[in-house]
Amino acid sequence: MRHTVLTGDRPTGPLHLGHYFGTLANRVKLQHDHTMYVLVADYQVITDRDLPGEIQRNITGLLLDYLAIGLDPAKVTIFQHSAIPELNQLLLPFLSLVSMAELQRNPTVKDEIAHSSQKAVSGLMFTYPVHQAADILFCKGTLVPVGKDQGPHVEVTRLVARRFNERYAPVFPVPELLLGEAPVLRGLDGGKMSKSRGNAIPLSATADETAALIRKARTDSTRLITFDEVERPEVAGLLTMAGLCLGRSPVEIADEIGYGGAAQLKKTVTEAVNEFLAPIRRRRAGISETEAREVLRQGNAHAREQAILTLDEVRAAMGF
Ligand code: ATP
Ligand code: MG
Repeated sequence: MRHTVLTGDRPTGPLHLGHYFGTLANRVKLQHDHTMYVLVADYQVITDRDLPGEIQRNITGLLLDYLAIGLDPAKVTIFQHSAIPELNQLLLPFLSLVSMAELQRNPTVKDEIAHSSQKAVSGLMFTYPVHQAADILFCKGTLVPVGKDQGPHVEVTRLVARRFNERYAPVFPVPELLLGEAPVLRGLDGGKMSKSRGNAIPLSATADETAALIRKARTDSTRLITFDEVERPEVAGLLTMAGLCLGRSPVEIADEIGYGGAAQLKKTVTEAVNEFLAPIRRRRAGISETEAREVLRQGNAHAREQAILTLDEVRAAMGF
């Protein structure tokens, strides 16, 4: 079956290893045999902060990250919210399909509120999962390769699609979630690796920066290194990272390190990550910012054509 694949990222900072093993690796694989859209979710930056910050710089960085990991602009449509008014307009009918109670019990939204530095929680924080339904359904997405935190959001999309189809006409497919090898990669503090939580290893970090970040990673004082997700989340996170980069089991790596302690663990992780990132860094160095921006311009034009068609279909189904 040929899928229409939709995923995206908020331009809040550089992409990291959590993104790679959570969703980017799947995108690189799927781009060859499926129709693929990748969204620079610029409007969703302001869900958990007052201002979009260095949005243009972050967008350019995101584009460079996409190209550096091997997304091929000839195969993938890369586009941004703020350039596609027809996509955003889908939010209106879609919001009418969900209840306040459903919006309020979303566990990912609750977690993001807990980590937000805003004084008050905005309406967008509660409604952006429905905006995400518009992202996925504007192109009639059937497959959504994302990390585990996106599970509840994909459920919202499935609900919106089903309810729209029942209430009006069968316009939308009900999309499936596709988890990556690491549905939630831990960051350097043992919690979910996140752009905004200061615990990430960016794909664009140099070898020295990577070594410095790992040096500061949190571990514990037990010398014997073991893989224990529950009792030793920080150590387990580092072992998982090394395992993913080396294509090996974290338990095996722990056994090899044995009584080498945190120092040996960090050395192993640093070497594994640096070796893994080397080809990505090389590709990144060969791409200009102008080139990256042009990819977005062309992607926006293509995505907009698709959004206009879907919005027309939605209006017709609703009788407008
Ligand atoms: P922010 O802190 O700004 O929310 P983020 O690191 O959570 O940034 P997003 O842009 O929210 O990144 O997420 C982009 C995609 O990457 C989503 O599909 C999400 O599930 C996935 N993802 C993000 N962090 C991880 C992680 N630590 N492990 C696996 N997947 C992840
Ligand atoms: Mg996030």
